[in-house]
Amino acid sequence: MNNTVAGRLAPSPTGLLHLGNAWAFLLAWLAVRKCGGRLILRLEDIDTQRSRPIFAEQLMRDLRWLGLDWDEGPYRQSERIALYEEAFCKLTPHLYPCFCTRKELKELASAPNGVDGQPFYPGTCRELPQEIVQARLLAGDKHSLRLCVPSENIVFTDRVYGLQSLGPCDYGGDFPIRRSDGLFSYQLCCAIDDSLMGISQVVRGRDILVSTARQRILQTLLGLSLPSEYIHFPLLIDQTGVRLAKRHKSLTLASLRERCVAAETIVGYLAYLAGINPGMAPRYPHELVSAFTYTSLPVNDIVLDCERLFLWGFCQSTKKTPGFPGGINKDGAS
Ligand code: GLU
Repeated sequence: MNNTVAGRLAPSPTGLLHLGNAWAFLLAWLAVRKCGGRLILRLEDIDTQRSRPIFAEQLMRDLRWLGLDWDEGPYRQSERIALYEEAFCKLTPHLYPCFCTRKELKELASAPNGVDGQPFYPGTCRELPQEIVQARLLAGDKHSLRLCVPSENIVFTDRVYGLQSLGPCDYGGDFPIRRSDGLFSYQLCCAIDDSLMGISQVVRGRDILVSTARQRILQTLLGLSLPSEYIHFPLLIDQTGVRLAKRHKSLTLASLRERCVAAETIVGYLAYLAGINPGMAPRYPHELVSAFTYTSLPVNDIVLDCERLFLWGFCQSTKKTPGFPGGINKDGAS
């Protein structure tokens, strides 16, 4: 094993895994296996309102069913709160309370100044006079704690999307470190865990590409190590342009399994979308390791015809059709 490369699978156990998750984890698994690195399973269950142990158990079963294993873990973020507390204290000089309500933030989110759907927070509460801040804190007004981000651009290279130079306007400006309900943010927990777990290779969807800038800011402020390699990949989206998610119930792995779709059929299909399985034949993950390269990944999101995929699953279960009948609009997004 190449001990210098470490990657991670970082699922949030908030629902059943679906085809989009399988795509994400297959790619992360292949990238690290290709370099003979170490793979860590980290359950991002910091959001105690949405995470459920039952989903964590099921997702580990689903990963194994797909043929994806890991070398370390599972680590649970819910058991690492002390580490986040410690980092949070170190960050205090860079934080300020934000009293903006959900409604106000929602309005900001729909303003046309964000990039790629990322709302830009213009620093409204950064400018509040100290006496007002003190009075509101004394009154017990609900607030989150936001990080004052630097004005300089954050520069890093992504294997798929190339050189990135992201300024506050690109990644959304000052971002929350602790939410108003007291929970630590995904950005903080992820940044700390990636460093403390020695993660060198981060592989995840391109929707989180801008979060890389936020996480690198945190790692730098905390004097932690930074991952050396980023591979962000395009998303699987439905025909309305929505990213595959838990609401696409017919495409959960559980639902596909129920319709007798074999794990290797799913893996073969996803490998086809990744450009490493030309014939779409069923494949096991370990058979794809040598073929994997991030250079064959498409850059545009991949539009899936969910209805046809559903029918495909149905056909599998009734053994009418061996392979997916086509109609997949690969690289269809403009
Ligand atoms: N837990 C995150 C998710 O499920 C993963 C974030 C990451 O890979 O950094 O979307």
